[in-house]
Amino acid sequence: MKKPNIVILGAGYGGMITATRLTKQIGHDANITLVNKHDYHYQTTWLHEPAAGTLSPERTRMPINSVLDLNKIKFVKDEVQEIKREEKKVVLSNGELEYDYLVVGLGSEAETFGVPGVHEHAFSKWTVNGAREVKEHIEYMFAKYNNSPEKKDELLTVIVAGAGFTGIEFIGELSERVPELCAHYDIPREKVKLYVIEAAPTALPGFDPELVEYAMNLLESRGVEFKINCPIKEVTETGVSLANGDEIKASTIVWATGVRGSSIIEKSGFEAMRGRVKVEPDLRAPGHEDIFIIGDCALLINEEINRPYPPTAQIAMQMAEVCASNIKSLMTGGSLKTFTPDIKGTVASLGGKEAIGVVGSRKLFGTSANFMKKMIDNRYLFLLGGPGLVLKRGKNPM
Ligand code: FAD
Ligand code: NAD
Repeated sequence: MKKPNIVILGAGYGGMITATRLTKQIGHDANITLVNKHDYHYQTTWLHEPAAGTLSPERTRMPINSVLDLNKIKFVKDEVQEIKREEKKVVLSNGELEYDYLVVGLGSEAETFGVPGVHEHAFSKWTVNGAREVKEHIEYMFAKYNNSPEKKDELLTVIVAGAGFTGIEFIGELSERVPELCAHYDIPREKVKLYVIEAAPTALPGFDPELVEYAMNLLESRGVEFKINCPIKEVTETGVSLANGDEIKASTIVWATGVRGSSIIEKSGFEAMRGRVKVEPDLRAPGHEDIFIIGDCALLINEEINRPYPPTAQIAMQMAEVCASNIKSLMTGGSLKTFTPDIKGTVASLGGKEAIGVVGSRKLFGTSANFMKKMIDNRYLFLLGGPGLVLKRGKNPM
């Protein structure tokens, strides 16, 4: 009997966990292929650190062949261009793959909400090279400041668009690093301006107000200025224009106003909302018995509040477990599981030894939240590669 072809697109949180679980559960009973545009896996959830320069980018990525057993799974380094659903084929930049079962875990892209100038003038790619670009650019601006006779203030101005978790975690790291940058480039601290600009009436909308206040007070004490209730309406070569008519000049604009699912979803003709497919309870795309959509490409409604669950690594990993089990059931004739997220909490770092979070019903601040955040980062490594991977690549929680 012909072995089925299982193709997994994307080696992120969803793709990597699906790959490890399928190789364990199915082994050689199927031809399993993983496609990713790089030959490494990176932990997106760590990227605010290399972007600010507080962690080496090398710490956030690992060669795929160091984690997966390539005797049990074929790895293809290529870029997905389109999924041809009717033909059960995936078009890559350098070829095509046929599938019997497909797992789409291609992650997300920046959401601009139509604000002009974002792609041209802001940094919006939360990838390893995107993080490198931000770090190098900020350092170059600091170096340029002292070398230019005009000493333009905007060279030392950084704007973060969006006070969601990504924006807050990035500014937390950067505000911790600024004193070191100032010492290194001989710049008075008061010359550096850090803005976080948020459209909603509060930073971290929907999060616990006491924790939001803690985070804002801490970041303000490090010199961060918040502009709340202030939608950005345009990004230009020289800075941003706000809906209230103000303009702020800045040479560095970091875009963090949320995400939409991979553009491959819409390009491939799936019905989607902001690039995310509203998946069936078993994680398959509606009308497609052979296609699973997981992670940031999947949309799942939280029935309690009738709103989508936020796209998170936590949910991507949980989806991957159910997806792998459901593919096995399809192969062996078992019944398919319904996916129900088990939200354990949310913890966000604020740079240095600071963080905030809610775990279960407990609120965490400061060093205890920071400890928890590092444990969460290490837990993922444990789920992916066991204790060996934690020892090799984990974070010191203290
Ligand atoms: P990803 O992990 O993004 O992986 C997608 C993979 O697909 C990547 O390897 C990419 O290279 C590859 N790919 C993309 N397009 C193509 C293509 N066309 N061809 C081939 N390969 C392709 N969530 C949490 O739960 N907790 C956190 O603490 C947290 N912190 C975050 C911090 C930051 C700075 C950011 C930006 C996000 C954070 N998130 C966090 C959200 C989390 O990172 C995402 O929800 C998660 O990465 C989604 O997993 P995924 O598997 O869907 O996609
Ligand atoms: P987000 O959607 O959570 O936040 C984006 C923010 O940008 C919102 O507050 C929104 O009001 C604001 N915004 C939108 N348009 C704007 C505009 N024109 N001008 C100014 N502000 C504007 O997105 P995110 O922070 O990028 O996070 C993406 C996903 O990743 C979320 O699901 C988040 O929960 C997850 N994440 C989690 C963590 C964590 O758990 N520690 C960290 C980072 C990201």
